Amino acid sequence: MTAPNVCRRCLYHASHPLGLTIDEEGICSGCRVHEEKDRLDWEARWRRLEELVAPYRSRGGDTYDCIVPVSGAGDSYFLVHLVKERLGLNPLLVSYNKYFNTPLGIRNLANLRIRFNCDLIQQNVNPVSVKKIVRTTLRRLGSLYWPNLAGQTVFPVQTAVNYRIPLIIWGAHQGVEQVGMFSHEHEAEMTRRYRWDHDLMGAEADDLLSIFDTLTEADIWQYRYPADADLAEIGVRGIYLSNFVRWDPKAQHEQMMATHDYRSASFSRTFDCYDHVDCYNFMGLHDVLKLYKHGYSKVTDHASREIRHGRLTRDQAVALVRRHEQAEPGHVDLFCDWLGIDPTGLAFMMNEHRNPAFWEEQAPGDWRFKGWSTQEGPGDPTAPTDLFRPTDQLNRGQADRYITVGKGYP
Ligand SMILES: [Zn+2]
Repeated sequence: MTAPNVCRRCLYHASHPLGLTIDEEGICSGCRVHEEKDRLDWEARWRRLEELVAPYRSRGGDTYDCIVPVSGAGDSYFLVHLVKERLGLNPLLVSYNKYFNTPLGIRNLANLRIRFNCDLIQQNVNPVSVKKIVRTTLRRLGSLYWPNLAGQTVFPVQTAVNYRIPLIIWGAHQGVEQVGMFSHEHEAEMTRRYRWDHDLMGAEADDLLSIFDTLTEADIWQYRYPADADLAEIGVRGIYLSNFVRWDPKAQHEQMMATHDYRSASFSRTFDCYDHVDCYNFMGLHDVLKLYKHGYSKVTDHASREIRHGRLTRDQAVALVRRHEQAEPGHVDLFCDWLGIDPTGLAFMMNEHRNPAFWEEQAPGDWRFKGWSTQEGPGDPTAPTDLFRPTDQLNRGQADRYITVGKGYP
Protein backbone atom coordinates (compact mmCIF):
# COMPACT_ATOMS: atom_id res chain seq x y z
CA MET A 1 0.00 0.00 0.00
CA THR A 2 1.32 3.40 -0.93
CA ALA A 3 1.13 6.19 1.60
CA PRO A 4 -0.35 9.35 0.03
CA ASN A 5 2.84 11.32 0.59
CA VAL A 6 4.92 8.93 -1.53
CA CYS A 7 4.84 9.28 -5.32
CA ARG A 8 2.74 6.54 -6.92
CA ARG A 9 5.20 6.16 -9.78
CA CYS A 10 8.73 6.57 -8.35
CA LEU A 11 9.92 6.01 -4.77
CA TYR A 12 10.31 9.62 -3.64
CA HIS A 13 8.65 10.88 -0.51
CA ALA A 14 7.20 14.37 -0.19
CA SER A 15 9.92 15.10 2.40
CA HIS A 16 12.70 14.89 -0.25
CA PRO A 17 15.36 17.40 0.90
CA LEU A 18 15.49 19.16 -2.50
CA GLY A 19 11.73 19.72 -2.18
CA LEU A 20 9.09 18.14 -4.39
CA THR A 21 5.33 18.32 -4.78
CA ILE A 22 2.86 15.50 -5.41
CA ASP A 23 -0.11 16.31 -7.63
CA GLU A 24 -3.76 15.23 -7.35
CA GLU A 25 -3.01 12.06 -9.31
CA GLY A 26 -0.33 11.13 -6.79
CA ILE A 27 2.57 11.75 -9.19
CA CYS A 28 5.57 13.81 -8.05
CA SER A 29 7.00 16.87 -9.76
CA GLY A 30 10.20 14.93 -10.60
CA CYS A 31 8.20 12.33 -12.56
CA ARG A 32 6.16 15.05 -14.29
CA VAL A 33 9.27 16.91 -15.46
CA HIS A 34 10.77 13.56 -16.55
CA GLU A 35 7.76 13.15 -18.89
CA GLU A 36 9.15 16.12 -20.85
CA LYS A 37 12.00 13.86 -21.96
CA ASP A 38 9.58 12.02 -24.22
CA ARG A 39 7.77 15.14 -25.35
CA LEU A 40 10.44 17.72 -26.14
CA ASP A 41 12.06 18.05 -29.58
CA TRP A 42 15.62 17.26 -28.56
CA GLU A 43 17.08 18.07 -31.97
CA ALA A 44 15.69 21.56 -31.64
CA ARG A 45 17.01 21.76 -28.07
CA TRP A 46 20.49 20.79 -29.32
CA ARG A 47 20.38 23.55 -31.96
CA ARG A 48 19.39 25.94 -29.20
CA LEU A 49 22.50 24.84 -27.27
CA GLU A 50 24.72 25.41 -30.32
CA GLU A 51 23.40 28.96 -30.64
CA LEU A 52 23.89 29.55 -26.94
CA VAL A 53 27.58 28.54 -26.94
CA ALA A 54 28.49 30.16 -30.28
CA PRO A 55 29.50 33.57 -28.85
CA TYR A 56 31.94 31.87 -26.44
CA ARG A 57 33.97 30.14 -29.16
CA SER A 58 37.43 31.72 -29.28
CA ARG A 59 38.23 32.97 -32.75
CA GLY A 60 41.99 32.56 -32.77
CA GLY A 61 41.94 29.11 -31.17
CA ASP A 62 44.60 30.28 -28.72
CA THR A 63 42.52 30.14 -25.56
CA TYR A 64 39.86 28.00 -23.91
CA ASP A 65 36.23 28.28 -24.95
CA CYS A 66 34.74 27.03 -21.71
CA ILE A 67 35.33 25.27 -18.42
CA VAL A 68 34.14 21.71 -17.80
CA PRO A 69 34.20 20.38 -14.22
CA VAL A 70 35.24 16.71 -14.14
CA SER A 71 36.16 13.86 -11.80
CA GLY A 72 37.12 10.22 -12.23
CA ALA A 73 33.45 9.28 -12.40
CA GLY A 74 30.01 10.83 -12.75
CA ASP A 75 29.01 12.33 -16.04
CA SER A 76 32.58 13.47 -16.78
CA TYR A 77 33.21 11.38 -19.88
CA PHE A 78 29.86 12.09 -21.48
CA LEU A 79 30.18 15.76 -20.67
CA VAL A 80 33.59 16.09 -22.34
CA HIS A 81 32.35 13.98 -25.26
CA LEU A 82 29.49 16.41 -25.88
CA VAL A 83 31.55 19.55 -25.35
CA LYS A 84 34.65 18.59 -27.29
CA GLU A 85 33.51 16.00 -29.83
CA ARG A 86 30.00 17.20 -30.62
CA LEU A 87 30.05 20.94 -29.95
CA GLY A 88 33.67 21.21 -31.08
CA LEU A 89 34.66 23.47 -28.19
CA ASN A 90 38.10 23.59 -26.57
CA PRO A 91 37.43 23.07 -22.85
CA LEU A 92 39.67 23.56 -19.83
CA LEU A 93 38.91 20.63 -17.53
CA VAL A 94 38.96 21.39 -13.82
CA SER A 95 38.87 18.90 -11.00
CA TYR A 96 38.70 19.21 -7.23
CA ASN A 97 40.78 16.59 -5.40
CA LYS A 98 38.47 14.88 -2.92
CA TYR A 99 41.25 12.82 -1.27
CA PHE A 100 39.00 9.75 -0.82
CA ASN A 101 40.19 8.73 -4.29
CA THR A 102 39.98 5.13 -5.40
CA PRO A 103 42.65 3.73 -7.73
CA LEU A 104 39.86 3.33 -10.30
CA GLY A 105 38.95 7.02 -10.05
CA ILE A 106 42.57 8.05 -10.57
CA ARG A 107 42.72 5.74 -13.59
CA ASN A 108 39.45 7.00 -15.05
CA LEU A 109 40.52 10.64 -14.72
CA ALA A 110 43.92 9.99 -16.35
CA ASN A 111 42.27 8.06 -19.17
CA LEU A 112 39.76 10.88 -19.65
CA ARG A 113 42.52 13.45 -20.06
CA ILE A 114 44.45 11.24 -22.48
CA ARG A 115 41.54 9.99 -24.58
CA PHE A 116 40.02 13.42 -25.07
CA ASN A 117 43.41 15.17 -25.23
CA CYS A 118 42.39 18.00 -22.90
CA ASP A 119 44.22 20.29 -20.50
CA LEU A 120 43.28 19.73 -16.87
CA ILE A 121 43.93 21.65 -13.71
CA GLN A 122 43.32 20.25 -10.28
CA GLN A 123 42.72 21.93 -6.95
CA ASN A 124 44.48 20.31 -3.99
CA VAL A 125 43.47 22.08 -0.80
CA ASN A 126 45.96 21.28 1.95
CA PRO A 127 44.91 18.09 3.76
CA VAL A 128 45.26 19.60 7.24
CA SER A 129 42.51 22.14 6.57
CA VAL A 130 40.35 19.56 4.80
CA LYS A 131 40.51 17.24 7.81
CA LYS A 132 39.71 20.09 10.19
CA ILE A 133 36.65 20.99 8.12
CA VAL A 134 35.51 17.36 7.93
CA ARG A 135 35.70 17.09 11.74
CA THR A 136 33.56 20.20 12.07
CA THR A 137 30.96 19.37 9.44
CA LEU A 138 30.68 15.76 10.60
CA ARG A 139 29.87 16.97 14.09
CA ARG A 140 27.68 19.94 13.17
CA LEU A 141 26.02 18.96 9.89
CA GLY A 142 26.39 15.19 9.92
CA SER A 143 28.43 15.49 6.72
CA LEU A 144 31.86 14.10 5.90
CA TYR A 145 31.47 15.34 2.36
CA TRP A 146 31.13 19.09 2.81
CA PRO A 147 34.63 20.03 1.49
CA ASN A 148 34.04 17.89 -1.61
CA LEU A 149 30.60 19.31 -2.32
CA ALA A 150 31.85 22.83 -1.68
CA GLY A 151 35.11 22.37 -3.60
CA GLN A 152 33.65 20.77 -6.69
CA THR A 153 30.95 23.42 -6.96
CA VAL A 154 33.20 26.44 -6.33
CA PHE A 155 36.57 25.64 -7.87
CA PRO A 156 35.22 25.74 -11.45
CA VAL A 157 33.66 29.15 -10.71
CA GLN A 158 36.90 30.50 -9.19
CA THR A 159 38.77 29.20 -12.24
CA ALA A 160 36.31 30.97 -14.55
CA VAL A 161 37.12 34.23 -12.77
CA ASN A 162 40.87 33.67 -12.53
CA TYR A 163 41.28 32.62 -16.17
CA ARG A 164 38.57 34.94 -17.44
CA ILE A 165 36.66 32.11 -19.14
CA PRO A 166 33.00 33.07 -18.75
CA LEU A 167 31.23 29.83 -19.75
CA ILE A 168 31.05 26.82 -17.42
CA ILE A 169 29.34 23.69 -18.75
CA TRP A 170 27.89 21.28 -16.18
CA GLY A 171 26.14 17.95 -16.75
CA ALA A 172 22.85 17.32 -14.99
CA HIS A 173 20.92 19.79 -12.86
CA GLN A 174 19.88 17.63 -9.89
CA GLY A 175 16.97 19.92 -9.05
CA VAL A 176 15.51 19.14 -12.48
CA GLU A 177 16.56 15.49 -12.69
CA GLN A 178 15.43 14.37 -9.23
CA VAL A 179 12.55 16.55 -8.14
CA GLY A 180 11.44 18.62 -11.12
CA MET A 181 12.23 21.96 -9.50
CA PHE A 182 12.32 23.52 -12.98
CA SER A 183 11.18 22.47 -16.43
CA HIS A 184 13.95 21.66 -18.94
CA GLU A 185 12.64 24.61 -20.93
CA HIS A 186 13.38 27.00 -18.07
CA GLU A 187 17.06 26.35 -18.86
CA ALA A 188 17.99 26.86 -15.22
CA GLU A 189 21.58 28.03 -14.80
CA MET A 190 24.12 27.84 -11.99
CA THR A 191 23.48 30.12 -9.02
CA ARG A 192 25.17 30.85 -5.73
CA ARG A 193 21.80 30.40 -4.05
CA TYR A 194 21.18 26.85 -5.32
CA ARG A 195 24.69 25.84 -4.23
CA TRP A 196 24.10 27.25 -0.77
CA ASP A 197 20.63 25.77 -0.33
CA HIS A 198 21.17 22.33 -1.81
CA ASP A 199 24.80 21.45 -2.42
CA LEU A 200 26.00 22.83 0.90
CA MET A 201 22.97 22.10 3.10
CA GLY A 202 22.65 25.78 3.97
CA ALA A 203 26.22 26.18 5.25
CA GLU A 204 28.55 28.39 3.21
CA ALA A 205 32.24 28.44 4.04
CA ASP A 206 31.94 31.41 6.38
CA ASP A 207 29.03 29.78 8.25
CA LEU A 208 31.46 27.15 9.51
CA LEU A 209 33.43 29.68 11.51
CA SER A 210 32.41 29.74 15.15
CA ILE A 211 33.97 30.76 18.44
CA PHE A 212 33.17 27.22 19.61
CA ASP A 213 35.44 25.67 17.03
CA THR A 214 39.08 25.58 15.93
CA LEU A 215 38.45 26.41 12.28
CA THR A 216 39.90 29.69 11.11
CA GLU A 217 39.59 31.79 8.00
CA ALA A 218 42.85 30.24 6.77
CA ASP A 219 41.07 26.87 6.61
CA ILE A 220 37.96 27.90 4.72
CA TRP A 221 38.80 30.76 2.38
CA GLN A 222 39.42 28.50 -0.61
CA TYR A 223 35.78 27.40 -0.50
CA ARG A 224 34.40 30.94 -0.84
CA TYR A 225 32.25 31.77 -3.84
CA PRO A 226 33.71 34.60 -5.96
CA ALA A 227 32.32 38.10 -5.47
CA ASP A 228 29.24 39.08 -7.52
CA ALA A 229 31.16 42.04 -8.96
CA ASP A 230 33.86 39.73 -10.38
CA LEU A 231 31.31 37.31 -11.80
CA ALA A 232 29.39 40.15 -13.42
CA GLU A 233 32.48 41.82 -14.84
CA ILE A 234 33.58 38.63 -16.61
CA GLY A 235 30.02 37.54 -17.35
CA VAL A 236 30.39 34.12 -15.75
CA ARG A 237 27.47 31.77 -16.33
CA GLY A 238 27.04 28.04 -15.84
CA ILE A 239 24.73 26.02 -18.08
CA TYR A 240 23.51 22.43 -17.68
CA LEU A 241 23.61 20.04 -20.65
CA SER A 242 20.69 18.04 -19.24
CA ASN A 243 18.44 20.89 -20.39
CA PHE A 244 19.53 20.36 -24.01
CA VAL A 245 20.13 16.60 -24.26
CA ARG A 246 17.70 13.81 -23.32
CA TRP A 247 19.55 12.88 -20.14
CA ASP A 248 19.93 9.17 -19.39
CA PRO A 249 22.96 8.39 -17.17
CA LYS A 250 22.79 4.61 -17.67
CA ALA A 251 22.78 4.81 -21.47
CA GLN A 252 25.44 7.54 -21.41
CA HIS A 253 27.81 5.56 -19.21
CA GLU A 254 27.36 2.47 -21.38
CA GLN A 255 28.19 4.51 -24.46
CA MET A 256 31.33 5.90 -22.78
CA MET A 257 32.37 2.42 -21.60
CA ALA A 258 32.11 1.20 -25.20
CA THR A 259 33.78 4.13 -26.96
CA HIS A 260 36.17 5.70 -24.43
CA ASP A 261 36.99 2.87 -22.01
CA TYR A 262 35.31 4.35 -18.95
CA ARG A 263 35.34 1.67 -16.24
CA SER A 264 32.78 0.83 -13.57
CA ALA A 265 32.78 -1.05 -10.26
CA SER A 266 30.18 -2.54 -7.94
CA PHE A 267 29.06 -1.20 -4.54
CA SER A 268 27.32 -2.85 -1.61
CA ARG A 269 24.77 -0.05 -1.14
CA THR A 270 23.35 0.26 -4.65
CA PHE A 271 22.91 -1.64 -7.89
CA ASP A 272 24.23 1.23 -10.07
CA CYS A 273 27.88 0.40 -10.76
CA TYR A 274 28.54 3.37 -13.03
CA ASP A 275 28.57 6.55 -10.99
CA HIS A 276 30.78 7.58 -8.02
CA VAL A 277 33.46 4.93 -8.65
CA ASP A 278 36.16 7.53 -7.96
CA CYS A 279 35.37 7.67 -4.24
CA TYR A 280 35.52 5.22 -1.33
CA ASN A 281 32.99 7.17 0.71
CA PHE A 282 30.29 8.69 -1.48
CA MET A 283 28.47 5.36 -1.87
CA GLY A 284 29.71 4.26 1.58
CA LEU A 285 29.74 6.30 4.78
CA HIS A 286 28.32 9.40 3.08
CA ASP A 287 25.37 7.32 1.88
CA VAL A 288 24.81 5.90 5.39
CA LEU A 289 24.56 9.46 6.72
CA LYS A 290 22.02 10.26 4.00
CA LEU A 291 19.87 7.38 5.27
CA TYR A 292 20.29 8.53 8.87
CA LYS A 293 19.32 12.13 8.10
CA HIS A 294 16.77 11.83 5.32
CA GLY A 295 15.33 8.33 5.67
CA TYR A 296 16.42 7.22 2.21
CA SER A 297 19.72 6.66 0.41
CA LYS A 298 21.26 6.74 -3.06
CA VAL A 299 19.73 3.41 -4.02
CA THR A 300 16.32 5.13 -3.86
CA ASP A 301 17.62 7.85 -6.20
CA HIS A 302 18.90 5.20 -8.60
CA ALA A 303 15.74 3.08 -8.38
CA SER A 304 13.48 6.11 -8.95
CA ARG A 305 15.51 7.14 -11.98
CA GLU A 306 15.32 3.64 -13.46
CA ILE A 307 11.53 3.51 -12.93
CA ARG A 308 11.20 6.79 -14.80
CA HIS A 309 13.28 5.46 -17.68
CA GLY A 310 11.03 2.40 -17.81
CA ARG A 311 13.73 -0.15 -16.94
CA LEU A 312 12.30 -1.18 -13.53
CA THR A 313 8.76 -1.62 -12.32
CA ARG A 314 7.91 0.05 -9.04
CA ASP A 315 7.77 -3.35 -7.30
CA GLN A 316 11.18 -4.33 -8.65
CA ALA A 317 12.58 -1.00 -7.51
CA VAL A 318 11.20 -1.49 -3.99
CA ALA A 319 12.90 -4.90 -3.81
CA LEU A 320 16.25 -3.42 -4.91
CA VAL A 321 16.00 -0.63 -2.34
CA ARG A 322 15.26 -3.11 0.42
CA ARG A 323 18.18 -5.27 -0.72
CA HIS A 324 20.78 -2.48 -0.58
CA GLU A 325 19.50 0.22 1.76
CA GLN A 326 21.03 -1.05 5.00
CA ALA A 327 24.08 -2.84 3.55
CA GLU A 328 27.41 -2.28 5.33
CA PRO A 329 29.24 0.68 3.78
CA GLY A 330 32.76 -0.83 3.77
CA HIS A 331 36.07 1.08 3.96
CA VAL A 332 35.21 2.57 7.38
CA ASP A 333 38.73 1.78 8.62
CA LEU A 334 40.28 3.85 5.82
CA PHE A 335 38.22 6.86 6.82
CA CYS A 336 39.01 6.44 10.54
CA ASP A 337 42.75 6.24 9.78
CA TRP A 338 42.59 9.28 7.51
CA LEU A 339 40.72 11.45 10.01
CA GLY A 340 42.46 10.08 13.11
CA ILE A 341 39.28 8.96 14.86
CA ASP A 342 38.37 5.58 16.29
CA PRO A 343 35.37 3.67 14.93
CA THR A 344 33.41 4.04 18.19
CA GLY A 345 33.83 7.81 18.10
CA LEU A 346 32.76 7.88 14.46
CA ALA A 347 29.66 5.79 15.20
CA PHE A 348 28.78 8.10 18.10
CA MET A 349 29.01 11.21 15.90
CA MET A 350 27.00 9.58 13.12
CA ASN A 351 24.29 8.40 15.52
CA GLU A 352 23.85 11.98 16.73
CA HIS A 353 22.46 12.73 13.25
CA ARG A 354 19.86 9.95 13.06
CA ASN A 355 16.58 11.65 12.29
CA PRO A 356 13.94 10.58 14.86
CA ALA A 357 11.31 10.72 12.11
CA PHE A 358 12.98 7.62 10.63
CA TRP A 359 14.97 6.04 13.47
CA GLU A 360 13.97 4.79 16.89
CA GLU A 361 16.52 3.70 19.49
CA GLN A 362 14.78 0.72 21.06
CA ALA A 363 17.65 0.02 23.43
CA PRO A 364 21.09 1.67 23.67
CA GLY A 365 22.73 1.13 20.28
CA ASP A 366 19.75 -0.82 18.91
CA TRP A 367 18.18 1.31 16.17
CA ARG A 368 15.00 0.47 14.31
CA PHE A 369 14.53 2.01 10.85
CA LYS A 370 11.01 3.12 10.10
CA GLY A 371 11.50 4.70 6.70
CA TRP A 372 8.90 3.94 4.06
CA SER A 373 10.84 1.02 2.59
CA THR A 374 10.34 -0.98 5.80
CA GLN A 375 6.62 -0.25 5.64
CA GLU A 376 5.90 -1.01 1.99
CA GLY A 377 5.72 -4.66 0.93
CA PRO A 378 8.89 -6.56 0.02
CA GLY A 379 8.49 -5.72 -3.66
CA ASP A 380 9.08 -8.02 -6.61
CA PRO A 381 11.77 -10.58 -5.69
CA THR A 382 12.53 -11.17 -9.37
CA ALA A 383 14.06 -7.69 -9.61
CA PRO A 384 16.99 -7.87 -12.05
CA THR A 385 20.47 -7.82 -10.56
CA ASP A 386 22.36 -7.37 -13.82
CA LEU A 387 20.95 -4.10 -15.11
CA PHE A 388 24.36 -2.47 -14.54
CA ARG A 389 27.73 -4.04 -15.38
CA PRO A 390 30.93 -3.65 -13.34
CA THR A 391 33.98 -3.76 -15.62
CA ASP A 392 36.65 -3.18 -12.96
CA GLN A 393 37.05 -2.83 -9.16
CA LEU A 394 37.35 0.28 -6.99
CA ASN A 395 40.82 -0.80 -5.83
CA ARG A 396 41.78 -2.35 -9.20
CA GLY A 397 42.89 -5.49 -7.36
CA GLN A 398 45.33 -3.69 -5.04
CA ALA A 399 44.99 -3.23 -1.26
CA ASP A 400 42.37 -0.60 -0.44
CA ARG A 401 43.88 2.81 0.25
CA TYR A 402 43.13 6.44 -0.51
CA ILE A 403 45.26 7.78 -3.35
CA THR A 404 45.92 11.29 -2.03
CA VAL A 405 47.47 12.62 -5.22
CA GLY A 406 47.73 10.29 -8.17
CA LYS A 407 49.11 10.64 -11.66
CA GLY A 408 47.32 7.46 -12.60
CA TYR A 409 47.57 5.41 -15.69
CA PRO A 410 49.35 4.45 -17.84
ZN1 LIG B 1 7.72 10.41 -8.74
